[in-house]
Amino acid sequence: MTNQACFGCTIACGRISKMDQGHFTVENKPQYWGASGGLEYEAAWALGAANGVNDLEALQYANLLCNEQGMDPISFGATIGAVMELYEMGVLTKEQLGIDAKFGSAQALAHFAEITARGEGFGKEIGLGSKRLCEKYGHPELSMSVKGQEFPAYDSRGIQGMGLTYATSNRGACHLRSYTVASEVLGIPVKTDPLTAEGKPELVIAFQDATAAFDSAGICIFTSFAWGPADVAPQVAAACGPEFTLENMAKIGERIWNMERDFNNRAGFTAKDDTLPKRLLTEPAQTGPAKGPVNKLPEMLPKYYAARGWDADGQLKPETRARLGL
Ligand code: SF4
Repeated sequence: MTNQACFGCTIACGRISKMDQGHFTVENKPQYWGASGGLEYEAAWALGAANGVNDLEALQYANLLCNEQGMDPISFGATIGAVMELYEMGVLTKEQLGIDAKFGSAQALAHFAEITARGEGFGKEIGLGSKRLCEKYGHPELSMSVKGQEFPAYDSRGIQGMGLTYATSNRGACHLRSYTVASEVLGIPVKTDPLTAEGKPELVIAFQDATAAFDSAGICIFTSFAWGPADVAPQVAAACGPEFTLENMAKIGERIWNMERDFNNRAGFTAKDDTLPKRLLTEPAQTGPAKGPVNKLPEMLPKYYAARGWDADGQLKPETRARLGL
């Protein structure tokens, strides 16, 4: 395994991996014997740990099919988790799925990746994503998603800010719109307690606005592990003009966030869509360092709306619109 980088990047966060030619997934498939894009953190979690699958080559194979066929490995892996749960509950059967789909089955994961990529049999239903699939089989509560997008690798019962991040993200449960893990777990730029809801509305807003400004500058968001807005603003100013000051960059990020929100509101999204799956709000984690708490979204959300200048239904107040020039 080696690293791979986008043009000119010194971080090189990508991976190149090779699969054992004798592994069941690629045996007799020489087209997959060469090196390919390897597993990264989110894909390894979504395809593997979240489904109890510990066969690294099967994970690599499923990831390769996802990448080749344009399927998001996070959404695909989380949807397989829902299929496995429905199977273990007896809602889905071996006859329907074409395979024994217990949690932990590498064979089932590889099989599902193939039939979903080809749009064959039950693969067509997996391709619906977990929200529509779980609704179809009468258990919408089993879809671990917000606004139809599945969660990345952070349990919001143990990282409170990520619950508010997911619930208020303009495109659903996404870690690339506000990564408060940086502060709550890694201590970047300052360490905050992941188990408290105190101060998290302000933290989430700061991350959302800064991320929106980073994204619009065309900079890879992974640079934000090292760079803050104070590092990025002079670079944008050098390329685009002196008006891109640190203060203006913050305002640009806030305007972007509010414009996206306004778009969603006009498309019919309301405060009722700013929520989390019920089990994260009512079922405490049973093990690990976050054992005990649930996500405190009901405590954080009204404070978030107030700090954003939105009304109780999550709509921009007239004075917010005026302040941002929207
Ligand atoms: S850090 Fe960003 S730019 Fe660099 S290799 Fe990774 S994705 Fe590409």
